[in-house]
Amino acid sequence: MAKGNINVSVENIFPLIKKFLYSDHEIFLRELISNATDATMKLKHLTNIGEAKVEYGNPQIEVKVDKKKKQLHIIDQGIGMTAEEVEKYINQIAFSGAEEFLDKYKDKVDDAGIIGHFGLGFYSAFMVADKVEIITKSYKDEPAAHWTCDGSPEFSLVKAKKKERGTEIILHIADDEKEFLEESKIRELLLKYNKFMPIPIKFGTKEINDPNFTPKTKKDKDGKETTEPHKKITVNDIINNTNPAWTKQPTDLKDEDYKDFYRELYPMQFEEPLFNIHLNVDYPFNLTGILYFPKMTNDLNIQKDRIQLYQNQVFVTDNVEGIVPEFLTMLRGVIDSPDIPLNVSRSYLQADGAVKKISSYITRKVADKLKSLFNNNREDFEKKWDDIKIVIEYGMLSEEKFFEKADDFALYPTVDGKYYIYDELYNKIKAKQTDKDDKLVILYASDKDAQHSYIEAAKAKGYEVLFLDSPIVSHLMQKLETTKEKISFARVDADHIDNLIKKEDTKISKLSDEQKKQLDELLKEVIPSEKFMVQLEPMDSTASPFIITQPEFMRRMKE
Ligand code: ADP
Ligand code: MG
Repeated sequence: MAKGNINVSVENIFPLIKKFLYSDHEIFLRELISNATDATMKLKHLTNIGEAKVEYGNPQIEVKVDKKKKQLHIIDQGIGMTAEEVEKYINQIAFSGAEEFLDKYKDKVDDAGIIGHFGLGFYSAFMVADKVEIITKSYKDEPAAHWTCDGSPEFSLVKAKKKERGTEIILHIADDEKEFLEESKIRELLLKYNKFMPIPIKFGTKEINDPNFTPKTKKDKDGKETTEPHKKITVNDIINNTNPAWTKQPTDLKDEDYKDFYRELYPMQFEEPLFNIHLNVDYPFNLTGILYFPKMTNDLNIQKDRIQLYQNQVFVTDNVEGIVPEFLTMLRGVIDSPDIPLNVSRSYLQADGAVKKISSYITRKVADKLKSLFNNNREDFEKKWDDIKIVIEYGMLSEEKFFEKADDFALYPTVDGKYYIYDELYNKIKAKQTDKDDKLVILYASDKDAQHSYIEAAKAKGYEVLFLDSPIVSHLMQKLETTKEKISFARVDADHIDNLIKKEDTKISKLSDEQKKQLDELLKEVIPSEKFMVQLEPMDSTASPFIITQPEFMRRMKE
């Protein structure tokens, strides 16, 4: 395979890495575990396609803290590296082995789930360590290698005795980064970044009740019952759920599974989500995820648990601004997409074509889901309306596409607890509530008590009165007034509502103009016009196509 040697001068780049690579030092752990995961996934694919003739088994990744020696160990059972590969992949900074792997195997492995692609991930270890060792044994039949580097451009590479396949990274934690020797800190980071990664991550042990032991209950001589203590056993503490719900097919999940996953994501949220939306697309971009509608308050600022963004099951951020439309940042859940460029600024993100597509896909999915929830169980949807309306109304105001789709499910509640979608409301009031300019007037109240007598008066006249009280609904009314044809909103206590005009039901002829003309001519021939009056309209479906009447004055003329 011919690839050139990219020789970046290490002397120049090291201080840069230390200071500026990532402002967040803690992400070194995410990078190293991503590499360990990649190495394991690579082995899986190579064994699958028969290129690695070894047993894949049940590989794990282990993280160990050795506080005394000031060391942090990350150990995997993946493909490992030969000495030659260490030279190539580790010594050549900015030469991304992950990209090369994907290039080489892209025809054989369609979704390898490989994480790394910046080529600087490994070196982020030097943000917290002043010396790093790699002890690695390839799946190929070659001796293990031991690489050591103290952060200066010089490194040593010697043979090692390691027998088991895989890689151990040893970080000698720098004095000013001692927090990364605290077990609690490491556990916190693992739970933050690696909670849903695909390879089991072991961190220490924990005690659990022995599942093969049933405590006996004894009665003492006074008849008092005592149960012996449950037998405990020590097991490996596996940090992550390697199969999170969003990676599964929607058809394999029940409502309860979605709720369980919500609790897993937000252990401190005791309120159940109202419903969920499973995102699942692989063309023209890759995106999976589950969004939840929590019960909303009217306060737009309260939003503690946010949507989490992942790439191939690695946590990236919980700030999805610029990636999902703003009104959806009020939702909760997970989005996982390797197609979101993350090493760029937010303002760039907003202009990025792929991100725009992702954002409009999510909007469309949310609208479709709302529509089907409304169609499948309208009663339930109406019950939830108060808890979700803020998101929907905000979406209607801020996203044109969503506004157009919302006519199918956005509800307009009346003071009597009925709920209409826009068309229903329109049809209900079009004959009764028109003003002198022929505009349809939609009456609303925002305070049922204060406006009580006005509401009653309007109802006595047969008018519908909406009950609209959300904080942004006045903006929504304006928007509807400017986009819908000839409507206006009026408060039920506005002075002009007494002057609303009841329009006769306008009936629409079923005849074409040509048919009308022919009928008219025919009737003129057969019916003497001095004796009878012929009226072609109005007509409706039940009436005859024309009416022949003899008005009083005509009758008199005859006599
Ligand atoms: P990237 O992951 O983007 O390729 P990194 O700097 O994180 O860049 O890693 C560089 C390369 O070093 C990887 O592509 C891989 O070939 C090799 N490497 C790093 N860690 C491991 C590991 N634990 N096992 C096997 N190879 C590894
Ligand atoms: Mg990497």
